[in-house]
Amino acid sequence: MADNIGSQAPPHIALFPSAGMGHLTPFLRIASMLLSNNCMLTLFTAHPTVFATESTYTSLFLSTHPQHKHINRHVYLLHPLLSSASPSFSAIFSDFSLASTITQVASDLAIPNYIVSTTSPAKLSSSSFEVNIPGLTPLSISSIPPLFFDPNHLFTALIVSNAPAFSEAKGIIINTFDWFEPETLAAVNSGRALSNPPPILPVGPLEPYELSKDQFQSLPWLDNQPEESIVYVSFGSRTAMSKDQIRELADGLERNGCRFLWVIKSSKVDKEDNQGLEDLLGSSFLKRTRNKGIVVKGWVNQQEILAHPATGGFINHCGWNSAMEAASRGMPLLAWRQYGDQRVNAEVVENAGLGIGARDWGWDVELLVKGEEIERKIGEMMKNEKLRDRARKVGEEARKARGTGGSSDKVLLGVIEVLNL
Ligand code: UDP
Ligand code: UDP
Repeated sequence: MADNIGSQAPPHIALFPSAGMGHLTPFLRIASMLLSNNCMLTLFTAHPTVFATESTYTSLFLSTHPQHKHINRHVYLLHPLLSSASPSFSAIFSDFSLASTITQVASDLAIPNYIVSTTSPAKLSSSSFEVNIPGLTPLSISSIPPLFFDPNHLFTALIVSNAPAFSEAKGIIINTFDWFEPETLAAVNSGRALSNPPPILPVGPLEPYELSKDQFQSLPWLDNQPEESIVYVSFGSRTAMSKDQIRELADGLERNGCRFLWVIKSSKVDKEDNQGLEDLLGSSFLKRTRNKGIVVKGWVNQQEILAHPATGGFINHCGWNSAMEAASRGMPLLAWRQYGDQRVNAEVVENAGLGIGARDWGWDVELLVKGEEIERKIGEMMKNEKLRDRARKVGEEARKARGTGGSSDKVLLGVIEVLNL
């Protein structure tokens, strides 16, 4: 397949990510994978960005991939921007949440549109709000986030308005791999879980690209820690915990006595995250635990931390990017889901055997989880050899899927081949 590629003009692909690091990251990873397969790309981004990190990552990506074009998008200019490109576009890859807008323009201009889904296929197949999806283990009613019962909620409206565009897409590109979710992928691709489904195209786990080290906090401390000893605690790019919950988490880590690397966010949007560590945790906690762990504020290079030999477990909210990054590295997870698609993601992670869940820890941050409980769960994750072995196996299968001739590699090359025709 790859032999055909390169012998003719490369496909030119327009990329439309949506706001937030959870959306930008998979797009930049797909971009990097497409570039290494000789595609030509133009990235359309919104300006200004919601998060400061989005600008940093976009600029970094563009500076390391100068062959990539970049355009600040404006909804009224989409038509002329897309129709006047030279060479003309072979395809558009657009975020799920932009599907309804892009589908219309794409169909006017007869450019194939692929939707990039940034969540799990299990979540995708529940977007029609069916609880019993034929071909799938029924989803418990409690795993449907409360916001989906409110038709006026922004996210519910977003899904309902974008869902019809799904059937017009040429395919849905998704960050997962066959081995991880065989049942769900078989059900969606056989048409049992979504009506009129375009092909679901699992190309994951998306490959992280090299990030310049001096842009992020360096953590030399990790290099001096024993192998697989560190519990890495992070809740993604935009989940802020209450001050009380932060204190209980601190208590849980201290009681357990584990080594830890904890990234704290006290505000949703990074530009507003100004509260100091002493204020959040108290100076005595930081003093008492200084031989055991470090707490950092701000952005870290998560892909590097997960790849570090000292990291042995991951307490995370189960954002889909983080879950796939953990899968890639064979890293055991404690899935402490907070809101949105995370409950379904956490169930997928548990079913695959990559992590343990915390189903009785509330939902939409409704309960305060006590330190004793957190202490116990950390033990369950870190001392569980069966879990560690299974997570390692997940990592091996992820590498196989992405490697030459693997299931995800074949899917990506298949898409590029179609665009070359
Ligand atoms: N991330 C990171 N450093 C941080 C916080 C997050 O590199 O300090 C990355 C993480 O590796 C992932 C993305 O940001 O790729 C977050 O996406 P995810 O879907 O896990 O969660 P969200 O932030 O959307 O809730
Ligand atoms: N969602 C979906 N398919 C996707 C992306 C999102 O069904 O490809 C759903 C998901 O269930 C989530 C909601 O849309 O709860 C909002 O998603 P988004 O990632 O935009 O939320 P955010 O992470 O920005 O809060």
